[in-house]
Amino acid sequence: MAEEYQMPKGELMKGKKGIVTGVANHQSIAWGIACQLAAQGAEIAFLHLPGMERRVEPLAAQLGVKVLAAVDVTDDASMDAAFETVKAAFGTIDFFVHSIAFANKDELKGSFVENTTREGFLRAMDISAFSFVDCSRRASAMMPDGGSIITLTYMGSERAIPNYNTMGVAKAALEAATRYAARDLGPKGIRVNALSPGAMRTLSLAGISGGRGMLAKGRSLSAMKEDTSMEGVAGAALWLLSDLGRSTTGELIHVDAGFHIMGFTEDDEG
Ligand code: NAD
Repeated sequence: MAEEYQMPKGELMKGKKGIVTGVANHQSIAWGIACQLAAQGAEIAFLHLPGMERRVEPLAAQLGVKVLAAVDVTDDASMDAAFETVKAAFGTIDFFVHSIAFANKDELKGSFVENTTREGFLRAMDISAFSFVDCSRRASAMMPDGGSIITLTYMGSERAIPNYNTMGVAKAALEAATRYAARDLGPKGIRVNALSPGAMRTLSLAGISGGRGMLAKGRSLSAMKEDTSMEGVAGAALWLLSDLGRSTTGELIHVDAGFHIMGFTEDDEG
């Protein structure tokens, strides 16, 4: 079993309860974020895809997470049951982490124009973008004293990245949804933000044709010439989910070692 990340310990999340979605294994970004939140005293519930119990339960046990529920975000009954489970255990919550995305493998390669089907496009949108709207509605109903919601996106929403295709379009919708949700929920003291990490070695990346290339390019084209670290992404999540981030909402925060700021590199100079 994977080691728990050694994240900075403290009390920034002491007394705060919330939900982390999207833990599939020890490489999941949601797992890194959960490790950081737990190290700062948060009480966490995991919502995971049905069938992932064998992988998720040992990870939950490592962090002392006692509230777990299976959820398929495309199924309303499953969403109702999962949020009810957390409500019964926690009553109210202070934070919510949306770390969910999916597109058919066939849509994550080659020509965007040729390979994008209606069914695949709508499925990617449903799981990767609409689920955030649905989760925000359900989570905010459990935040009477305000709170903080984050989602995970990727720069393939802003620029055309080889093979990212339909997922890039879904991420663009997700980022716009972040701003609309921030506007709606702001008066209730609920902040909504998106983190945009560089490519990281996870199950989701493995589903993208040329995912390894995305990692290598992410490193070589970044300002810092290094991979995006789980510690960096989890640290940014902690900032946004704790009171440190109290005046920040509706933002898209890149945590990508400076990948998104670069123009052409020295090698490209004519
Ligand atoms: P991951 O595969 O570990 O996480 C994706 C999660 O989505 C999994 O836990 C999976 O079970 C869940 N999921 C998929 N369909 C679902 C459904 N119908 N219902 C409920 N859950 C469902 O990979 P990850 O890289 O940790 O991805 C987490 C988020 O980070 C995604 O939004 C991804 O797009 C984003 N992201 C990843 C990278 C990267 O390079 N890995 C970079 C930037 C952003």
